[in-house]
Amino acid sequence: MKLKILVTAGDGIGPEVTREAVAVLNEVAALSGHTMEIAEARIGGVAIVKDGNPLPQATIDAALDSDAVLLGAVGGNEFNSLAPDKRPEAGLLGLRSALGGFANLRPAFAFKELAVNSPLRPEIVDGADILFVRELLGGLYFGQPRAWDRAKGEAWNTMRYTRDEVVRVARIAFQLAQKRGKKLTSVDKANVLEVSQLWRATVTEIAAEFPDVTLEHQYVDAMSMHLMNRPRDFDVVLTENLFGDILTDESAVITGSLGMLPSATLGGKVNFYEPVHGSAPDIAGKGLANPLGAIMSGALLLRYSGGLEKEAKVIEASVRKVLEQGFRTTDLVRGDKTGLTVLSTTAMGVKVRETVKTLLA
Ligand code: NAD
Repeated sequence: MKLKILVTAGDGIGPEVTREAVAVLNEVAALSGHTMEIAEARIGGVAIVKDGNPLPQATIDAALDSDAVLLGAVGGNEFNSLAPDKRPEAGLLGLRSALGGFANLRPAFAFKELAVNSPLRPEIVDGADILFVRELLGGLYFGQPRAWDRAKGEAWNTMRYTRDEVVRVARIAFQLAQKRGKKLTSVDKANVLEVSQLWRATVTEIAAEFPDVTLEHQYVDAMSMHLMNRPRDFDVVLTENLFGDILTDESAVITGSLGMLPSATLGGKVNFYEPVHGSAPDIAGKGLANPLGAIMSGALLLRYSGGLEKEAKVIEASVRKVLEQGFRTTDLVRGDKTGLTVLSTTAMGVKVRETVKTLLA
């Protein structure tokens, strides 16, 4: 198997965590006989500085010419005063559009070892294993019209979905639920928003194609509470773009840190993979970033773009083993440090690679 991967490391901690994810992929390639051809391209703040544009055409071309894209994160405080369409985040939204992926899979798995790291009680989070499916190409992030009329002191965005957009992401979510716990929770705000009523009616209609999957609907406000009260009750959670963005950051409370969440975006011309977290300017360059979300995004890349299930599982098992052995990055330590070894970003990457080597040998 030969995989052509484009890495867009981005800004802040993006390059730090992506470097570790790439090193793990190279380790897997060296040990398993698969070829990973890895190229790099600029996106976000680094591209604004060097190319005058958050998404250079060369990056789009290179991405479309790849089997998969691995992204770090974009954004930085120095760009905060720019208009939304000029900011680093516009580069990311543009790349998502160009690649066309609409199903953003965000697994939130509560490792037993990190249960003490959650502000929730261990018996509430331990064993939680949720797969969020966030619609990524519609809703408020892309809906037109949108504008900020400064003279009038008025701004507006549009949450818009077509039936077809809901159908395609719902089918993927149901298919994933079939392979997991056969339960799907669809999250909306159908008591207030017409767009959510369309969402709910369409998901209900598609459920008929998947009689083995139990469907429930939740309002997003109630869901944000249920997630904290009883996260183990959820299997696949399907929702629209903005609600998914918010609920998956909330699920960092279940996993113990935002740095533990990977993601895969499927359904477009080229699938892309990125940790859920942002560029974390507050810790950039300090060796404090947790690379495990990026490393597990690499595992998802092998699974969904390479069909390399065994190798993906080895990476995930290596992350688990490293945690079992008491290795942590700073964000994974809360309170008592007895029995734990706190590692830098790079040192954590090395530990995962050593374990991958042992498990693949
Ligand atoms: P953030 O995710 O960057 O950080 C939130 C908090 O979590 C910070 O305290 C940070 O230090 C911590 N954190 C995040 N990732 C971590 C990791 N791997 N290890 C340890 N701690 C980690 O969110 P923010 O602060 O709201 O945004 C910062 C910038 O990132 C903004 O410019 C924002 O637009 C951008 N952003 C980009 C993406 C993306 O590129 N996909 C996603 C979210 C935010």
